[in-house]
Amino acid sequence: MKTFQITLLKGDGIGPEIVDQAVKVLNKTAEKFHFSVTYDEALLGGAAIDATGQALPSETVEKCKASDAVLLGAVGGPKWDSLPGNQRPEAGLLGIRGALGLFANLRPAVIFEALKEASPIKPEIIGDALDIMVVRELTGGIYFGQRGRDTKDGVESAYDTERYSVPEVERIARIGFEMASKRNKKLCSVDKANVLESSRLWRATVARIGEEYPDVELTNMYVDNCAMQLVRNPKQFDVILTSNIFGDILSDEASMISGSIGMLASASLGKNQFGLYEPIHGSAPDIAGTGLANPLATILSVAMMLKYTLNIPEAAQAIEDAVAKALTKARTADIHTEGMKKVTCEEMGDLVCELL
Ligand code: NAD
Repeated sequence: MKTFQITLLKGDGIGPEIVDQAVKVLNKTAEKFHFSVTYDEALLGGAAIDATGQALPSETVEKCKASDAVLLGAVGGPKWDSLPGNQRPEAGLLGIRGALGLFANLRPAVIFEALKEASPIKPEIIGDALDIMVVRELTGGIYFGQRGRDTKDGVESAYDTERYSVPEVERIARIGFEMASKRNKKLCSVDKANVLESSRLWRATVARIGEEYPDVELTNMYVDNCAMQLVRNPKQFDVILTSNIFGDILSDEASMISGSIGMLASASLGKNQFGLYEPIHGSAPDIAGTGLANPLATILSVAMMLKYTLNIPEAAQAIEDAVAKALTKARTADIHTEGMKKVTCEEMGDLVCELL
């Protein structure tokens, strides 16, 4: 029987509660699909600061590197808010992504049939379902480029630099095309090639890599138009491929189309399909320990792990189907509607296991 080693970074706030439910679901899935999982826990964020004085202890990086995949809850909270930026729990988050070489961020924006009414977009625009995947470059571009401040003739200025190399664009483009070839075979590369030189290099490189994927239809769109089209006609998109800064903004926009922050999963991939999986929401300190947290984003992150790192897509599908069914039977408080049974975080985890 195949055994996978998973490192759990439960983090702070609701992190431990939601990760516990996701582990329960992964164990049940393993039983059903005949594989086994061993877990190792490591510290990240506020919990790590309290125990070791550092948001990202080196032992955590080593444990993550020694595993097949990482499942992260969330980090941060008011207890650590007064620390300087580079010592806060969130610094651990950026640190672990860098240390593990996670260069591709996958953010699905999916609307479950049962939750259509939660979307801020009109039902006639959404249609039966919506399923977009935003592939964002995560370790290059303006967030990592040269930056600085200077003063000339008494006038202070600041600058940040958008720079991409051909190999950086090639590797993220390949992830985008691979993703599209397993989905609806449509890739929209988003840039600002009418203005930015870095975007012109991006566009030319993506087109060249596209020749390796003749079954995928490649289109290009300017980022300002894409922001508009996501609201006007989101169904036109399958996979959106874009740079770090554009992806930061567009993935948040795309995910809000689906209405609830407690439902949204994500993956960050490095070389050889290694990945870190986490819900997109934060540690929700306002509801930690109350049982009100929705564990479905974390459970759906486990489904992504099965699809993109552990290569058991049928197990991923089983979790997604169980989540869709669970939503027709009960809801956590954040997505509750009148007449529907209200359940706690743990009860939702149990329900998904029962429906698997
Ligand atoms: P948040 O996502 O934690 O919470 C925003 C709102 O959504 C809150 O009202 C919260 O109760 C609710 N919410 C979030 N997740 C939920 C869930 N699973 N079920 C039900 N309700 C949920 O964002 P915030 O309040 O801006 O940040 C809180 C802390 O989390 C901060 O310290 C922030 O820096 C950190 N943060 C961490 C991550 C991460 O670990 N990836 C991401 C964002 C924010």
